Amino acid sequence: MTPLPSIDEARATLLAAVHPLDPVNLPVGDTLGLVLAEDVPAAHHVPAFANSAMDGYAVRSGQAGQKLRIAGESRAGAPYEGTVVDGEAIRISTGAALPAGADGVLQVELVDEDDANAAVVLREDVAPGRNVRDAGTDLRAGTRVLARGTRIGPAELGVAIGAGRQGLLVGPRPRLAVISTGDELVEPGTPLQNGQIHDSNGPMLAGLAARAGAEVVGRGHAVDDPEATRAVIAEALEVADVLVLAGGVSVGPHDHVKPALLELGVEELLWRVALRPGKPTWLGRRGRQLVFGLPGNPVSAYVTFLLFARPALNALQGADATVPRSSATLAVDVPRNEGRDELIRVRRRPDGTVEPTGPQGSHVLSSLLGAEALAIIPRGAGAVAAGTEVTLEPI
Ligand code: AMP
Ligand code: MG
Repeated sequence: MTPLPSIDEARATLLAAVHPLDPVNLPVGDTLGLVLAEDVPAAHHVPAFANSAMDGYAVRSGQAGQKLRIAGESRAGAPYEGTVVDGEAIRISTGAALPAGADGVLQVELVDEDDANAAVVLREDVAPGRNVRDAGTDLRAGTRVLARGTRIGPAELGVAIGAGRQGLLVGPRPRLAVISTGDELVEPGTPLQNGQIHDSNGPMLAGLAARAGAEVVGRGHAVDDPEATRAVIAEALEVADVLVLAGGVSVGPHDHVKPALLELGVEELLWRVALRPGKPTWLGRRGRQLVFGLPGNPVSAYVTFLLFARPALNALQGADATVPRSSATLAVDVPRNEGRDELIRVRRRPDGTVEPTGPQGSHVLSSLLGAEALAIIPRGAGAVAAGTEVTLEPI
């Protein structure tokens, strides 16, 4: 039997099948959280004009002790239109344009104001450039200030607007549908009959998807019946770029997801990964649509979403799909799985080492609480000893 693909191999197979969604042009104010599909150059210098860093007086550079006549004012949005000559000072506000002829500003605290004579005396020397913010000291005209592939946060919004943009070319949010499968599932809050469980995967996966930049366009439930499963999946595939299913992908007599997907023309990219939790993961595509058949155990569904669906959603949006891994030292011995790499929920100790958050069974969702990363415990015999450095996947 050929060995199952590793996490990295499975991810590479998946990402090779992803085509970014066609970019759209949106008003800059509507792009928060989206991914830039173009480089953004500054259309002009920012600041566009030399201006004052202080409230004070704009002057020609020179020595302390000079008495200068106040010849006018430059306010934010209302510049002084004249030219400053020797013997003159212009009252100036922070951010107001430096008038022609002036090359420095002395803050108001460092002048003696002689209001009766509309004059000021400088108490300190004013070197050229003092308290002046030159044009282009934030952004230089023509230089790239934001790179394609950047996810737009509040700072990127501000910089794009400063650079002169009204609209931005961005990757749209992938439309994503979530389907939970299983006869045992009931809605949140429903009193449980024997054998029933609450559908925690549906809302959890929808939450992970929204965090990864997707727009959740549908939520469904398929009972363990071939026709019902096919109907729910067919409906979701009408509207979604990405379909995420939980449960029903194993080899039991009540697992109907894989045959239903194949009947609906979804092509299998891979099934099963040398991974714990999450071995039965099924990945597929139909044209540009992606399908994630995740195992039903809540931790398995959560972990495999992070490992596979999240980077694929990044790639669909035009962002870098590389997962930012880090590393840390294990605080305790951790047993290994013989055949599969294991992902354990860990938190950091004050000394920077990591420890399991609690029991690691794939049904123990509470061990995700407070987890700061997934530590990869490579397959093998025995245990990985405390003090060993391990790779961390972000949570
Ligand atoms: P399955 O992959 O369908 O065999 O499901 C594996 C385990 O996960 C079973 O114990 C299911 O009851 C449980 N499970 C399946 N779907 C969900 C769900 N939506 N929410 C919580 N647990 C689930
Ligand atoms: Mg099931």
